[in-house]
Amino acid sequence: MILSLDDSLNKINIPVAKFEIVDSLQKVERAQKKFGFPCVLKLVSPKVVHKTEEGGVKVVYDMAELRETASSFLGKGKVLVQEKCEGVELFLGIKNDPSFGHVLLAGIGGIFVEVYKDISFRVCPISKKDAEQMLEELKGKKLLEGIRGMRPVNRKALIDAMVSLSKLPEQIKDLEELDVNPLFANDNSVVAVDARIVLKE
Ligand code: ADP
Ligand code: MG
Repeated sequence: MILSLDDSLNKINIPVAKFEIVDSLQKVERAQKKFGFPCVLKLVSPKVVHKTEEGGVKVVYDMAELRETASSFLGKGKVLVQEKCEGVELFLGIKNDPSFGHVLLAGIGGIFVEVYKDISFRVCPISKKDAEQMLEELKGKKLLEGIRGMRPVNRKALIDAMVSLSKLPEQIKDLEELDVNPLFANDNSVVAVDARIVLKE
């Protein structure tokens, strides 16, 4: 069983970007006031799994854009209003491997995760040292160290999130699969903006 976007975001035990899910234009406008501009609107519907592919993720910069996008999304489902995040896009996941059991995956993420295939993994739960080694194994590890004017990501926050997430299989007994993609990491913090949890039937 696949959990909804809000259930998945609410169940993960790591920092999550501020969001609200609403079902009317008035409520979208009210939510936006809390997050300011720019903010992110996402189409929430059980029919839509890959939101970007359906045109269901939009950064909006002003009220006109917000109204236009929200109206179009509300014709197809609910709207998630979310603060806009900055930083390096990472991927964190959990898979239930037939021989290893639950395994934590970490990699360079976002929409290019399938292109780079730059992922390291360890059996859950992991230690801080495991987390550090997993990051060292990534080909894209330089992205975390600060490039092109970006400051190094808050490594402690990232490692804490990895260790915490690796304990999720102990907390959700029927956890089959989890994707946090992306997790935004910057010099200040790490936050998940998208998550999908699959439970055993
Ligand atoms: P999906 O994976 O279903 O297409 P996501 O919620 O992961 O939808 O959004 C797709 C992409 O949009 C992300 O990889 C990221 O680049 C961007 N994005 C999503 N949410 C935010 C946000 N809150 N702040 C900044 N960029 C975002
Ligand atoms: Mg995603």
